[in-house]
Formats: sequence, C-alpha cells, structure tokens
Amino acid sequence: MQREKADCVVIGAGVVGLAIAARLARAGREVIVLESEGEIGVHTSSRNSEVIHAGIYYPLNSLKARFCVAGRDALYRYCAERGVEYRRCGKLIVAASESEEPALHGTAALLSPSTGIIDSHGLMLAYRGEAEEHGAMIAFNAPVEAGRVGEGGVVLVVGGDMPMALDCRIVVNSAGLGAPAVAARLAGFPADHVPRQWLAKGNYFTLTPVSPFSRLIYPVPEPGGLGVHLTLDLGGRARFGPDVEWIEAMDYAVDPARGDRFYAAIRKYWPDLPDGVLEPGYAGIRPKLVPKGSQSQDFVIQGPVQHGVAGLVNLFGIESPGLTASPAIADYVANMLQPGS
Ligand SMILES: Cc1cc2nc3c(=O)[nH]c(=O)nc-3n(C[C@H](O)[C@H](O)[C@H](O)COP(=O)(O)OP(=O)(O)OC[C@H]3O[C@@H](n4cnc5c(N)ncnc54)[C@H](O)[C@@H]3O)c2cc1C
Repeated sequence: MQREKADCVVIGAGVVGLAIAARLARAGREVIVLESEGEIGVHTSSRNSEVIHAGIYYPLNSLKARFCVAGRDALYRYCAERGVEYRRCGKLIVAASESEEPALHGTAALLSPSTGIIDSHGLMLAYRGEAEEHGAMIAFNAPVEAGRVGEGGVVLVVGGDMPMALDCRIVVNSAGLGAPAVAARLAGFPADHVPRQWLAKGNYFTLTPVSPFSRLIYPVPEPGGLGVHLTLDLGGRARFGPDVEWIEAMDYAVDPARGDRFYAAIRKYWPDLPDGVLEPGYAGIRPKLVPKGSQSQDFVIQGPVQHGVAGLVNLFGIESPGLTASPAIADYVANMLQPGS
C-alpha cells in the first residue's frame, strides 16, 4: 500500500469539517480533507432546517450555547463578506394568542429577531473555496477505514479510489455520524473515550401552497428535538419538521404515514392548515450521544488534554446547532491544536 505523509488531515467534508479545514488552512497549515462520499455535505449538512439559531435553547455555558451565539454572529458576518445567501427573518416561538401573523393561534409567542435562514450548500461552498484558496485539498471517495496512534501523530488507512496509509501530524475527526466509528477503529486510542451513539431521525414534510407566514414558527421544544416547526427556504417555500423518530440504522426515507402526526402537531398553532397540503420531503439524522428519554447532551470535542493522544481532535454528537456553530467550532478546534495548549 502506498504510504504518504500529511501535516493536517480533516476527516469529513460536512459543514463542520469544511469550516475547520478553512480555519486551519487560513492559519497556514497544509490541510487535506478526506471524504468518503463523492461530494461535499451529502449527509447531515444538507439534511437540516438551514436555520441560523439565536442560541436560546441551550444550557448556560454549554458548548452549544457558547458556540451558537458566537457562531451566529460570525456567520452573519461571513455570509455578508463571502456572498452566501441568508435572511435574518426572525422567528416566533408559540405557546399554543394573538400575534402579528393572522393565521397563527396561541396563548403567547416569543419573538427571536436574530434567528435567520441560510443557504447551507452556499456556506459549504464558501468554506471549501476559502480552504482551497489557502492551499487545502479535498480527496473524495476517500473513506478512513482504520488507523493507529503513531509516534508523532496518527496513521490513517484510507480506502476508496486511492488506497493509502497516511502519516499525519494532526487529525481532526469531523466525520459526523461516522465519527465514533472512526475513533473506534484507531488502534491505540483509548476505547473509553469513544462514546456510544444513537440515531434520532428528523423527517420533514413540505407545504404545497404558498406559506401565510413570513417568519419561522416554532412550538415549544419536545424531548429530542425542537418540535415540528415551520421553516422557510430562501425562495419562501415552507417545510415542517423535523419530528423525532429513534432508529436503529441509517435510513433517509420519509414514511408518508407520518403525515397524520404532522397535521395534528401543526394545527396546535395553525388550526386552519387545510387537508392534503403536506408532501413527504426529506430526512436528516441527529447523532445523539444519549438514548431516548435522556436529557439532551452537549457537543463533545476531545483533544489531547482529554484523551492523551497527541495531534488528534474528535468531534462527537455535533447535532443542532452545528451549522450555526460551525465558525465557532472551527476556532475552538484551531485553538486546541496550538502548540502548548
Ligand atoms: C434534522 C436536523 C435538523 C437540523 N437543523 C439545523 C438548523 O436548522 N440549524 C443548525 O445550526 N443546525 C441544524 N442541524 C445540525 C447540523 O445540520 C449539523 O450539526 C451539521 O450539519 C453537522 O455537520 P458535520 O460536518 O459534523 O456532519 P456531516 O454533515 O454529517 O459531515 C460528516 C462527513 O463525514 C463523512 N464521513 C463519515 N465517515 C467517514 C469516514 N470514515 N471517512 C471519511 N469521511 C467520512 C460523511 O460522508 C460526511 O460528509 C440539524 C441537524 C438535523 C439532523
């Protein structure tokens, strides 16, 4: 097998991996991104609500809260600088009364003015462009299949189109749903630092008629997710979701039978939703680090200080608000890799 050396390898070309690659390349590192699929952002990063979250749901001082607030502000600036499409449209959280949206029904509503929507694929293209401008390279069809902790870093065994062993000084495991499996396959990595992962699918249904709402509409959150909410894409089309469906294996198909629950959930805040207007849309899968019924878990980002392996950073459980948080996560990871930290 061919053997190569690399300075810094990021595993996974989702929004978080690409943000990290851009950040590290900007700091002068030689970066290679290894992606098992044939293009960027095929999994969770293109299967979400595309909402720039304000940061109101998360426990005080949690990584989610800190990164969401810092990431939100950085993302609005980044979008303006790099021409990524977004709209700061605001959102209403409805506790099932009167509000400024005529069709909406509830006893109280909270307005979150700093919430917005974003073209998530446009954001990933901007991160990719920035990374490549600074010399980074993305290898597609390049799954990390195994590896081992080496003397001065980590050796990765890469399959796919160009199988090779890669001697890396630094590895950032940002493989999303695949991150625990990647860590588990690294010989010499302490197994007690590999978390167990559960899968909570989020299904979406699209609204066929034009939306009567100009803002995003959220009910109060439910266990495992934020409740079946209405989000808008940048073209003004409305979609509802995601719900929470705990699953055993990856499966992105949307069961049309789940539509009945959507009508019931949406009519709690939009009683005039007509029959027959929802179509099965798409689904994303939340990488959960706790099973059904547990309190939500924070992001887990482990560096050498936590697991003792020099040059390795693992990112686990990067569910919502990972898209919003992506610039702040990238800064955090870059700081973890500073000499002496
Ligand atoms: C239903 C849903 C709705 C959401 N809505 C929002 C929202 O509105 N706002 C928000 O801020 N966040 C939201 N999120 C969260 C956000 O989408 C994620 O946090 C973010 O996309 C995670 O990005 P990632 O790069 O970590 O993972 P991914 O996008 O999954 O990327 C990981 C990449 O790693 C690759 N990979 C996996 N294994 C390997 C391997 N062995 N070798 C090489 N490559 C590998 C995969 O192919 C993939 O491309 C939502 C998430 C879900 C599930």
